Amino acid sequence: MTVPDPSSFKQSTRVEKGAGGLIAIDHRVGSHGLAQRCQPHLAIESIPLPNTDCLIKPQVSLAGFTSYRVGGPAEWFVTPRTLDDLRASLAWAQGEGLPFMMLGAGSNLLVSDRGLPGLIICTRYLRHTQFDHHTGQLIAAAGEPMPRLAQQAAERGWQGLEWAVGIPGTVGGAVVMNAGAHTACTADILATTQVLTTDGSLQTLLPSNLDYRYRTSALQGDASRLVTQATFQLQPGAEPALVIATTRAHQERRHATQPYHLPSCGSVFRNPKPHTAGWFIQQTGLKGYQIGDAQVSQLHANFIVNCGNATANDVFQLMRYIQAQVEQHWQVRLEPEVKILGQF
Ligand SMILES: Cc1cc2nc3c(=O)[nH]c(=O)nc-3n(C[C@H](O)[C@H](O)[C@H](O)COP(=O)(O)OP(=O)(O)OC[C@H]3O[C@@H](n4cnc5c(N)ncnc54)[C@H](O)[C@@H]3O)c2cc1C
Repeated sequence: MTVPDPSSFKQSTRVEKGAGGLIAIDHRVGSHGLAQRCQPHLAIESIPLPNTDCLIKPQVSLAGFTSYRVGGPAEWFVTPRTLDDLRASLAWAQGEGLPFMMLGAGSNLLVSDRGLPGLIICTRYLRHTQFDHHTGQLIAAAGEPMPRLAQQAAERGWQGLEWAVGIPGTVGGAVVMNAGAHTACTADILATTQVLTTDGSLQTLLPSNLDYRYRTSALQGDASRLVTQATFQLQPGAEPALVIATTRAHQERRHATQPYHLPSCGSVFRNPKPHTAGWFIQQTGLKGYQIGDAQVSQLHANFIVNCGNATANDVFQLMRYIQAQVEQHWQVRLEPEVKILGQF
């Protein structure tokens, strides 16, 4: 995906807060086609989102919101806490003619060092869970962390989410990515998902509407449907100690075989056939190979880890190098599982 460099209009962007909290905006459409608010000489300010407690913040570094700990600034950034906040955030971006994107835990993203244009809507404060003992269903808002849900389900003796304990993403990210592990995946337990559409209405979708396949769904790359919550069908009634033990075993196995001690995005490439991506990378002799501070993990070859001061560009260049080397040795083209966002 190629996007304009937001830094090119960073210096001249400004908004004013007018009387009664209204925003006085000097619109100009810049050379990149994005609506810009241009008033030289003055600092960029946050914008109170009308009828909410949210602020739309300018130039927020995304390195603090991605598990790689790399990436440049979002042109605009908001953290809605309620469905109404989310609706208002979406309406604001639409009103300004800005692109928008949902960011969950940022655990499957490689964001360009040059940042991203438009409004980044961070869902991690959209929190709510409800365990329905009559139906065995767990209803969880988009920002709920999957590991926490796995722990909560286990403590109740509810089976079905044990596999999710080591996946450091949100419900929204899991529904969109069809996150999975230990031979299970999100689509297996998803009863319904609720989405907010660009006209501000809510829709309830069945998994059969969403073309679920290995680590993908029809919601990927679909900016017109924002996941607000999911309902998972679980199996209550087991002995909590048993479910806790299985959940813990999954977690321990992952910590023994994957580099959780360093920033990463988990598996970088989708698994091809007949071997895993990690197998191809390891057999090509790339474990430990490093560009800048980005390194092919010694523990798991399909992980690229940030050894401290990696840039997004280091990670990107290393991905390209791995792809080229594996293709040369095995005639297999590895496809990224991580979402690459912005200009590289
Ligand atoms: C150490 C580690 C281990 C991992 N292990 C696994 C694993 O075993 N299995 C696995 O599948 N993944 C794994 N991952 C990858 C990652 O955790 C999953 O892909 C996860 O589902 C991403 O969720 P997220 O909330 O971080 O989404 P993000 O990375 O923030 O976003 C991913 C995509 O989903 C979209 N999105 C996010 N929320 C919403 C929403 N509410 N509405 C619409 N779109 C949305 C984003 O726009 C983006 O396109 C691992 C990552 C790490 C760092």
